[in-house]
Amino acid sequence: KGAVELIKLSKSYDDHVAVKDIDLRIPAGSYCCLLGPSGCGKSTTLRMIAGHEDVTDGDILLNNRNVTDLPPRKRGTAMMFQNYALFPHMTCVDNVAYGLKVSGVNKAERHASAMDMLSLVNMVDHAGKLPSQLSGGQQQRVALARALICKPDVVLLDEPLSALDPFLRIQMRKELKQLQKTLGLTFIHVTHSQEEAFALADMAVVMDNGIIQQQGHPREIFEKP
Ligand code: ADP
Ligand code: ADP
Repeated sequence: KGAVELIKLSKSYDDHVAVKDIDLRIPAGSYCCLLGPSGCGKSTTLRMIAGHEDVTDGDILLNNRNVTDLPPRKRGTAMMFQNYALFPHMTCVDNVAYGLKVSGVNKAERHASAMDMLSLVNMVDHAGKLPSQLSGGQQQRVALARALICKPDVVLLDEPLSALDPFLRIQMRKELKQLQKTLGLTFIHVTHSQEEAFALADMAVVMDNGIIQQQGHPREIFEKP
């Protein structure tokens, strides 16, 4: 579970073409890094997969199911953002449980499920704290738990490490990779860092100016012959 296929996917903003006719297959269980310079269309591609952005043309298949016109919650994807986007007035456990509120799960079950997710990211001891009482890395773990509570097949991460200091970045990189392996989910991670992609990805996709320039294992792409 978690195979992603993009077929002739395009996105235009007015007269500006941000993503041009891209074809891409990401096998289930991959750690895929989307790379490229600022403005090349990485975030737009990720947001279209998440359903946060309408496509101009083309199709998105998840687990061989066409999800192009489905709302975000019906796709089996979950997105984690750069700035974590936690609710400041809610405790960690409530932030995580919030993801289930819309699905009509009762309060006790939401809480139990949120504690499970916090345990997955080693944040059980901080369950009752507010986001402001946590470090950047800890907030990021909570944001990840919130993304995972909906049991996605595909986790979408937009520059998840860029707000962290270099030491934490390397620590969280390890944790992300570990979690992805343990859960066996597909991760699609937008980054502008080759080093990050090299450390994390088993599939790297390099975009430039709205098209896919290169794809393959990071060793094949980044190591000179
Ligand atoms: P990246 O994530 O690679 O930095 P983006 O996907 O954010 O690139 O943007 C791709 C191109 O589309 C850029 O030229 C950007 O300015 C443009 N773009 C992105 N979002 C919008 C938007 N909401 N309205 C207009 N143009 C946009
Ligand atoms: P990123 O590089 O991570 O995509 P940006 O700073 O480019 O982040 O974009 C942040 C937000 O601004 C996004 O929601 C994007 O859609 C919007 N945006 C980006 N470029 C433009 C643009 N040229 N016009 C309008 N909105 C834009």
